[in-house]
Amino acid sequence: MLKTHCIRCGRKLKTLESQELGFGKICWEKWNSGSNIKPLFTLEDMNVKKDNK
Ligand SMILES: [Zn+2]
Repeated sequence: MLKTHCIRCGRKLKTLESQELGFGKICWEKWNSGSNIKPLFTLEDMNVKKDNK
């Protein structure tokens, strides 16, 4: 379902691409970069736990 306004800042979305994402282009990039800094977990963390025996 298409969004008419940005989820993050509430601005009106002009392009179909943004409406499908639910974010403006800038907010989408910020949202992605923010989630990359703080991932919920990483594969490396899981490997470390296995090696600890
Ligand atoms: Zn926005």
